Amino acid sequence: MTTTHNLGFPRIGAKRELKRALEDYWKGEIEQPELLAVGRELRQRHWQQQADAGIEWLPVGDFSWYDQVLDLSTLLGVVPERFNHDTTEVALDTYFRMARGRAPSGEPTTACEMTKWFDTNYHYQVPELIAQQQFTISSSKLFDEVAEAVSLGHKTKPVLLGPLSYLWLGKTKGGDFNKLDLLEKLLPAYGEILNRLKSQGVEWVQIDEPILALTLPLEWQQAFESVYTRLPIKGVKTMLAVYFGPLKENLKLACGLPTDALHIDAVRGADEIDTVLSWLPVYKTLSLGIIDGRNIWRSDLDALLERLRPLQQRLGERLWLAPSCSLLHVPVDLEQEEKLDSDIRSWLAFAQQKLAELNTLKHALAGDDEAAEQALHESRQAAASRRSSTRIHQPDVKQRCAAVTTSMAERESPFKHRIEQQQARLKLPLLPTTTIGSFPQTAAIRQTRRQYRTGELSETEYQTLMRREIDNVIEKQEAIGIDVLVHGEPERNDMVEYFGEQLDGFVFSQFGWVQSYGSRCVKPPIIFGDVSRPQPITVAWSRYAQSKTEKPMKGMLTGPVTILNWSFVRDDQPRATTCLQIALALRDEVCDLEQAGIAIIQIDEAALREGLPLRTEEWQSYLDWAVNAFRVTAGGVRDETQIHTHMCYSEFNDIMPAIAAMDADVITIETSRSDMELLEAFEEFSYPNDIGPGVYDIHSPNVPAVESITSLMNKALLHIPVERLWVNPDCGLKTRGWPEVNTALVNMVSAALFLRSRFKRSRAS
Ligand code: GLN
Ligand code: ZN
Repeated sequence: MTTTHNLGFPRIGAKRELKRALEDYWKGEIEQPELLAVGRELRQRHWQQQADAGIEWLPVGDFSWYDQVLDLSTLLGVVPERFNHDTTEVALDTYFRMARGRAPSGEPTTACEMTKWFDTNYHYQVPELIAQQQFTISSSKLFDEVAEAVSLGHKTKPVLLGPLSYLWLGKTKGGDFNKLDLLEKLLPAYGEILNRLKSQGVEWVQIDEPILALTLPLEWQQAFESVYTRLPIKGVKTMLAVYFGPLKENLKLACGLPTDALHIDAVRGADEIDTVLSWLPVYKTLSLGIIDGRNIWRSDLDALLERLRPLQQRLGERLWLAPSCSLLHVPVDLEQEEKLDSDIRSWLAFAQQKLAELNTLKHALAGDDEAAEQALHESRQAAASRRSSTRIHQPDVKQRCAAVTTSMAERESPFKHRIEQQQARLKLPLLPTTTIGSFPQTAAIRQTRRQYRTGELSETEYQTLMRREIDNVIEKQEAIGIDVLVHGEPERNDMVEYFGEQLDGFVFSQFGWVQSYGSRCVKPPIIFGDVSRPQPITVAWSRYAQSKTEKPMKGMLTGPVTILNWSFVRDDQPRATTCLQIALALRDEVCDLEQAGIAIIQIDEAALREGLPLRTEEWQSYLDWAVNAFRVTAGGVRDETQIHTHMCYSEFNDIMPAIAAMDADVITIETSRSDMELLEAFEEFSYPNDIGPGVYDIHSPNVPAVESITSLMNKALLHIPVERLWVNPDCGLKTRGWPEVNTALVNMVSAALFLRSRFKRSRAS
């Protein structure tokens, strides 16, 4: 029989039990033993569920209190000095201080940096490595969990992030050095870990080296050879696991490394299976990650079996099956979704269902038809219904997509001409002030939305209350003296969900949570079908808001690329096509806003950069269709209508041409923390349009002083001519409180007024 195994299971719990327990513990509402008990229970439950699903080798070490990379840092004793760690075992509160800067015990200090895990929406804690780094085994967590699983009678396969991926993901501190120089000291630590696992009776260890899916510098490629030849691994079998993409130029290398098995991502790297077969040494086991661990669609098992049968003939026992990557990136269990439409539900598979699919494949490959028949039948039906469903396929949407012309992605005139007409219409002062869209989401606002959702409030009552909120933010903005106003987005729970809920082609799960970082989870919308807009979404709100003020009121939309990148996207057509469909739906919204008299429309693209493929050679094609989608969204308006976009990050250097190609009249970006440094990129590139570099760090409760805002603006002025500069915060204000927001914006306007007067004087003289 073909062996099945799993690379990792979601740890958050089907009901987000881990989130609750962690947050209670951090707030001091429960004690550590209680937290530990919740973890133990979740691990046991998850192993049992995987075993019940027929999975043979269960992952251990995939459970984490916060993040698996941080777990490895503590295992290796990579604890920066500021955490005052002096014992041999890293205490749980020290671990939490590393993750979040504070814990129930221990001095608060600066947390470790957090960044995105490859191209997922998961964030890991960046290891801080110093030139004199020592590696000393400093956590028994992994070994304890192995013992725990073994005592429960499970066949366990500990999961360990490999030494090269670990170093690659780390950051050098206290002076630059070559991280590869640390290998000398790191390898013995890995040797010790493997030895301890062996002494616990472990047979297989999974060593993850996801960086083999990246374009690696030669030096790093070469390091793989030497590391894996030198890694002291006698007596345990090792599986090298690569995921998130094909191996490409690293394929031969990975096949040849002295490990007992190789796992590849057979979803994203499906084209490589044949090459792997020809390069894989005959002693090696091949694990095919055949079930998509990055998406929530049910597999077409017939199609997979057709591919697998000849492979099984060739490899026999050497063929193993698994999900493409850890199931951390999908929700736990579809079973609990009671409200999902039954057709759509039948097309989906969450973590638990994906394991069942593996089990079906195993039985079918073994010729055990009875065990597989029912599941194969259901899979067949789902695949057929998905192919032909009229819920998915909307001929008019497809036609409209096919008929998109290049001119639809063009504004009428170039920026130089447009901005003159916009100026004539808007009559904005030099250095205009604005905000990014949302204002504090108070408890009252959230309660109103909740009561509306549950039917406690009628449509009219809801409208009245929300309009009152809009009146309130308009009044405040006018009192502060802001030039371009926003309505504050009180009606929005989330910038993507809000639009998804009002577009056709989207559904929402009740419990489809996926860990983003620590205790934070997101529930991505599911784009299952052709996207269209049954009716205007934001127009009534914007029209109302504009009617309440003489100042320009910005229309506020989330862009097509961001909606796409923060959703689970259908896998039966290219992402570019889905993105274009969203763009066309939003284009209608943009045009309707213009019709309603809205002179400025902001289209947020907070997640444009996130969508960049892992491999740089694929960047351009992504950027091409992403930028085009934005341009189609914005391209339907007259010259005198001003299009803004907003991005909440600051690394623009490598995508500057794409940012410019979006051709938004104004771009607002996050810059306050990076001290305007990134504006150099805009200057070097001669970015042609208007820019609003953030001068108020909204991630902090601190109120920026007038002087600090003025000084940031002065720095910005070194790079960007005053005529093209705007004054605004880094991002939306919804997570902040009113008192601080109020003072911060008063200061922002004062700084703008001061600078304005200075320029007027210098011009007059
Ligand atoms: N307009 C949104 C807001 O102000 C933008 C949020 C974001 O960029 N993440 O909240
Ligand atoms: Zn933002």
